[in-house]
Amino acid sequence: MQIEFAKIEDKVLKGDFDIINEKVVQNEHEFFIIDSVNVSFRAYRIDVNDVSIKEKINGDITLICTNCLEEYKEHIELTSETIFTRNKSYTGGEVTLTESELDVQYLEDEVIDLKDEAIKTIDLYIPISHTCREDCKGICPICGANKNLNPCDCKIEQPDPRLEKLKEFLNKE
Ligand SMILES: [Zn+2]
Ligand SMILES: [Zn+2]
Repeated sequence: MQIEFAKIEDKVLKGDFDIINEKVVQNEHEFFIIDSVNVSFRAYRIDVNDVSIKEKINGDITLICTNCLEEYKEHIELTSETIFTRNKSYTGGEVTLTESELDVQYLEDEVIDLKDEAIKTIDLYIPISHTCREDCKGICPICGANKNLNPCDCKIEQPDPRLEKLKEFLNKE
């Protein structure tokens, strides 16, 4: 879903679209899946060089638990606003805003990709560490079992020097 910068006028332009079954690769090892998400947007021109794009994102995504590596679903409801500008020294009205204070992007092309914007918002929303449930027990470092499904009896031994001495002593007896 793209809109042309030149076609955005003072009058608010509204619409919506769906993103269905889209796999988004975050880096070499991680990805998430947008199962079904609806994006409704409002676009309007602030002045000659600037437009505002607001998006409301609502739907379900599938994530990979960073703890046990199993897939799990999450419902998301997010909103974002981005100013696209062709003016390198965008001032945002009275106060000068830096890029970090408000999401301001310099427009490189004549088109704005609304779907890319929505995917970016979802990506930013997902924390680096995200787990399938609050008490996810993760994977056993010894046998590799998913401890949520197969609680194993592995014990991570941390030898206590005093007990080791006692064991030696008892073995001698
Ligand atoms: Zn988990
Ligand atoms: Zn184990």
